[in-house]
Amino acid sequence: MVQLPADEVLIAGEWRRGAGAPIETVDPSDGRVLTTVHAATAAQIEEAAEGGARAAAEPVWRDQLPHHRAALLRRIGDLVEENAAHLAALQTADTGKTLAETGALVHSAAGTFRYMGAAVETAEAEVTPSRGAYVTLNVYEPYGVVGAVTPWNSPIASDAQKIAPALAAGNAVVLKPAEWTPLVSLALGRLITTALAEQGLPAGLLSVLPGPGRVIGDALVRHPRVGKVSFTGGTRTGRAIGHAAAEKVMPVTLELGGKSPTVVFDDADVEQALAGVEYGIFSSSGQACVAGSRLFVARSLYDEFLGELVERTRKLRIGPGTDPATQVAPLVHRRHRDAVAAYVDLARSEGARVLCGGGVPEGPRYEDGAYYLPTVLDGLPNSARTCQEEIFGPVLVALPFDDEDDLVAQANDTVYGLACGLWTRDARRAWRVARRMEAGTVWINTYKQFSIATPFGGMKESGLGRDKGRDAVRAYQRQKALYWGTDDSPLPWAR
Ligand code: NAD
Repeated sequence: MVQLPADEVLIAGEWRRGAGAPIETVDPSDGRVLTTVHAATAAQIEEAAEGGARAAAEPVWRDQLPHHRAALLRRIGDLVEENAAHLAALQTADTGKTLAETGALVHSAAGTFRYMGAAVETAEAEVTPSRGAYVTLNVYEPYGVVGAVTPWNSPIASDAQKIAPALAAGNAVVLKPAEWTPLVSLALGRLITTALAEQGLPAGLLSVLPGPGRVIGDALVRHPRVGKVSFTGGTRTGRAIGHAAAEKVMPVTLELGGKSPTVVFDDADVEQALAGVEYGIFSSSGQACVAGSRLFVARSLYDEFLGELVERTRKLRIGPGTDPATQVAPLVHRRHRDAVAAYVDLARSEGARVLCGGGVPEGPRYEDGAYYLPTVLDGLPNSARTCQEEIFGPVLVALPFDDEDDLVAQANDTVYGLACGLWTRDARRAWRVARRMEAGTVWINTYKQFSIATPFGGMKESGLGRDKGRDAVRAYQRQKALYWGTDDSPLPWAR
């Protein structure tokens, strides 16, 4: 039995019951209510932001040396690692994902804290070229309070990608996790509270406040103490946050949706491509921002490749995330499953051929869960809604292409620009096409691999700014220029 967190939220270091409506968290493998957590309110956001601002200004934190801050981040990483089994089980219960996936996410979160510790410990400020009787320096300072708003699909990893660099940069953080999946964010909050207490640092540096995005998330974004917001979620929400940020003239990082193309050229290693395409769309049941949801196959290979892909897709093992044999776990929530099903109905009405899947799996094992069959569609033009809109489920739409120009035109004909996969043995072609693709990440002969050292983010309506990499710490700081006069005489103008 997985240990469930108490019905408390974290308000500037204090664990208290949320003053909002109860949120029932549900295990999507069987529809069982796991627990109830009371949502926070806008008044508690106010407390969190004010408390965060006070904590961030305390000299023990404000003046802390980078290697001491790095020690805090390492300690959080260690605590995450020590509690990995519990955190993975909790996230599997809350999101439905397989234990293999949630285990990997937990280890990646631990690595994120350690990496951002190393990044801040080794960060340098710059002396910039001076043209006069002065020395010019760039220094970097925290914003004070950072608002972090995260989605339900990979909570601990997206939480860590925001909290770690924001703390490393010297801020306080108010985290607003998604309503469907607050449990692992609250558990992470407990570990960070422990690490802060051990190191004698202000507890108010962290708040974790679940609740409805349009109320709590919006209150957080608009709060005058919040100097920067880092958001991961859908493009529509990102646009709303961008508008609110513009009113305050506040910087935002937006990691948004995608409709990423994966491309199989006629010279691809077919075995590798089949495995990569399947993993790209059906792992995490397609609930990944980078899901390779549009498949382009060279026309000469199209029928053969699709035939084999469909054959293999029918054999994927569907089951609860706790079963080690499971490849395709339930979706996060019945409501989301129904939205995915509605998209497949739309595809049918647009004239799609449903090559496999296209419904809910049958049998007592699946009855009460939020399962959906891995689905392959084709027969639609790239302009169809099914080929253009993010479905965020195990639904792949396949299209043929004739040559490189045709491919690039179709692949880039989307509002999104998050990721792309290329399968070819021709290195020159891979280079050429990778450079023409409008995508923040291009994987060549692999897919959905991540390194914390590599910046990640989208082009076009997939986002603004980058997470991860050494520069992530700088994204949570504002640059200040210092001019330091070196001349003994007064400025000539005043003479
Ligand atoms: P969502 O946009 O509905 O919600 C994300 C978060 O924003 C939640 O915490 C929600 O409560 C909050 N929110 C909603 N309205 C808000 C508002 N007006 N102001 C402030 N906060 C608000 O997204 P979701 O359904 O939770 O997640 C799925 C989406 O996330 C997909 O589009 C997916 O592509 C995207 N995503 C992107 C990345 C990336 O790195 N680019 C990673 C994971 C998920």
